[in-house]
Amino acid sequence: MTDIASSPTPTPEAQPSAPAATIDPARQAQAKRYAGLRRVLSLVDLAVGAVALVVVLVLGLHLRLRDALTSAGLGGQPWPFVLIAAYAAVYILGYTVLTFPLAIYGGFVLPHRFGLSRQGFGGWLGDQGKGLLLSLLFGLAVVEVMYLLLAKQPLTWWLWVAGIALIFTVVLANLAPVLLLPLFYKLTPMPEGELRDRLLRMAERAHTQVRGVYVMNMSRKTSEGNAALMGLGNTRRIVVGDTIVQEYTPDEIEVVLAHELGHHVHADIWKGIAVQTALTLGGLALVNLALHAIVAHAGFGFHGLADIATLPVLLALFGIYGFVTGPLGNTYSRIIERQADQYALDMTRDPASFISAFNRLANQNLAQLDPNPIIEALFYDHPAVGKRIRHAEQWQAAHQTTRPVAPKP
Ligand SMILES: [Zn+2]
Repeated sequence: MTDIASSPTPTPEAQPSAPAATIDPARQAQAKRYAGLRRVLSLVDLAVGAVALVVVLVLGLHLRLRDALTSAGLGGQPWPFVLIAAYAAVYILGYTVLTFPLAIYGGFVLPHRFGLSRQGFGGWLGDQGKGLLLSLLFGLAVVEVMYLLLAKQPLTWWLWVAGIALIFTVVLANLAPVLLLPLFYKLTPMPEGELRDRLLRMAERAHTQVRGVYVMNMSRKTSEGNAALMGLGNTRRIVVGDTIVQEYTPDEIEVVLAHELGHHVHADIWKGIAVQTALTLGGLALVNLALHAIVAHAGFGFHGLADIATLPVLLALFGIYGFVTGPLGNTYSRIIERQADQYALDMTRDPASFISAFNRLANQNLAQLDPNPIIEALFYDHPAVGKRIRHAEQWQAAHQTTRPVAPKP
């Protein structure tokens, strides 16, 4: 394992006396190479999925699989639940096997080569296994519900699916920090102390309350830093990686926490769910029209709208829709991230620590300061780090004031 050159050695305590971080040019050169490789990898991944779907449809494998599973007695009456589950499982597992070499390269080899990952192969494989089980669990549930609705409500199925997806998203957003995230990381409440007090004071000033601040033990698996606002209702919490808590100064951590508090104050999780639901609804409406047209075409060999053999058609349609609308979702995400940055600057009035924190983050995560603007527009769900730093510099110039150097009470 290679440690990252520019980060201070992790210590159990934050380092109040650490000097402000600056951008490490060597890390930026690495960041550029890393981003280039990742981009190629995601394009190859996309191409493999697309080609596989085309091959399945052109060779008629989707119909043959349905017929083979039916002949094997999985049809079932009055509704073929088992057939549908088996059919969908073949696709999920097939895709997993097909893209496994890419997953190893992108998820294990590359992060190790760039000194970002600290995880052994066994641990990584275990995480992949858990991910696959979750995909099967959620994927099969979605497919079962969708095909049942396609059979029972052929004209309005897509409205039902959108409604159920909304409920599911809300439940999942609520459960994620208590059920899903702990499958991969241990979460512990941030210990009482100056940091926690500072955040509680910020939350008080914002006339809001966060349910808790949790530290996530990322450092066992990665040298990268991250933080997030998670959960809904009684599970709402701010989660910070120990890779940030250990390596950033308290002023910098406060900026990070203020950014997450900004998401809370702006109700960004709810807004994100609303945007996601609108996008899903649009996609389902289009897929509904396309599916009716395709199934009406007698030559394609489908037994009707609820024929499970239409699954690869649905996957292709949703895939194209997701690819086309992805940049829309990313643009929205960059807007709310910029607002959270603005909130963090207004709340802490400490652009120097903001800039230092983001310099540190760029070094730590090999984040490119200024990627190609087209790449950023299409694929970045956060503004590029260079933009975020310039945002803070503009704030500083506009306010002509920094926080006094004297220690806070
Ligand atoms: Zn954010």
